[in-house]
Amino acid sequence: MPFERRIMKRLSILGSTGSIGRQTLELVRRFPETLQVTALTAKSNVDLLEQQTREFRPGLVCIYDENKAEELRERLSDLPVTVVTGMEGLLECATAADATMTVVALVGMIGVRPTVAAIEAGKEIALANKETLVTAGHIIVPLLKKHGVSLYPIDSEHSAIFQALQTVPGERSAFFGGNPYVKRILLTASGGPFRGCTKEQMRSFTCEDALKHPNWSMGKKITIDSATMVNKGLEMMEARWLFGLKPSQIQVVIHPQSVLHSAVEFVDGAVVGQMGTPDMRLPIEYAILYPERAPQIASQLDLFAVRELSFFPPDTDNFPALALAMEVLRRDAEYGQQTGSTLPVVYNAANEWAVARFLQGIGAFTDIADAIADAVSAHTVTVAPTLAEVLAAEQWTVDFLAGR
Ligand code: NAD
Ligand code: MG
Repeated sequence: MPFERRIMKRLSILGSTGSIGRQTLELVRRFPETLQVTALTAKSNVDLLEQQTREFRPGLVCIYDENKAEELRERLSDLPVTVVTGMEGLLECATAADATMTVVALVGMIGVRPTVAAIEAGKEIALANKETLVTAGHIIVPLLKKHGVSLYPIDSEHSAIFQALQTVPGERSAFFGGNPYVKRILLTASGGPFRGCTKEQMRSFTCEDALKHPNWSMGKKITIDSATMVNKGLEMMEARWLFGLKPSQIQVVIHPQSVLHSAVEFVDGAVVGQMGTPDMRLPIEYAILYPERAPQIASQLDLFAVRELSFFPPDTDNFPALALAMEVLRRDAEYGQQTGSTLPVVYNAANEWAVARFLQGIGAFTDIADAIADAVSAHTVTVAPTLAEVLAAEQWTVDFLAGR
């Protein structure tokens, strides 16, 4: 049996009602001798949070929406569980005393403060929430080093790169300082539902069109981000912090089959990648059980059924938000490879604002890229922003876009 079940991990799962959160609980359900749940959080889904609390029996749960807290408290009054709410409640769950690992499965940069708090409390981190590294990577990476905390990526591409990096000598659990054997990474992308479409065609695409991802089933926000290719832009910024890479070391590769989940090209010319079926349960498992692997997590990859793999350069003309992400990443690294700036914050916050509106049926698909471009060009950059300055830049972006 390759899976030794050596360690008992006690998880605080932030965003347990979402796509990643639910798949994390599936893993807990399968390995109850290895995994326990200490805390769960949701934004407003009282029904599912109640159900999850009854099944997994955490001592602490947070319903972010303060208007729902009383209802959840009443519903759970027969259980020995404390119900908390709001950002204070989220921070309490992120740092829950008996948790050993905090799984950050929140969507959006709402995850920044809980992630920082969890690291400061010495919790291991399993991170799906890319927006947190995009906007506060320059704060998170030094903090991980200061507290001697490991962070494991759940994003499938970054998990693939992390798995490929296990072949190099040295410290294996974190690569934040970069690695001298790495020449560059090949960050794969399916291209989303609108691959091959022109900007003109995309103008009339609806929310329903954009929510049809060809290979992955995910939360709504990241599905829209895949359609605009903003997701790949955010992932480039995420990879920069996770693996200590310069922008020129990150190559986006369009790969419609989503079989190669990303690869590392080493200085000697070797390219090591991770392949598999598109199934988030695998990167979730690897992040949580690292360095072990559990049996039968993802369905088996049948290469004879796949037959062919194809690779193309990204289309930055028709996906302007990806082109802008590359520019933001380059400019941000020019301010200082380790320091960061408020540019990625504005890029991300503008996208969150525009996607939320698009999901409500307001505006055209192409308005998302336009909103990001407007906010980025109007912004006065702060270099090496503090946490307060990161959050202020987010607020500036929302105010700017609402007042446009
Ligand atoms: P989702 O929308 O399905 O779930 C988000 C979770 O966060 C829910 O539990 C929700 O209640 C909670 N939440 C949302 N807004 C909140 C707020 N303001 N305050 C408190 N809680 C809030 O999202 P998801 O698809 O699971 O994605 C989660 C993160 O993982 C995202 O950053 C996404 O980019 C990343 N990711 C997801 C996938 C995937 O397959 N779903 C793959 C790679 C990366
Ligand atoms: Mg991804």
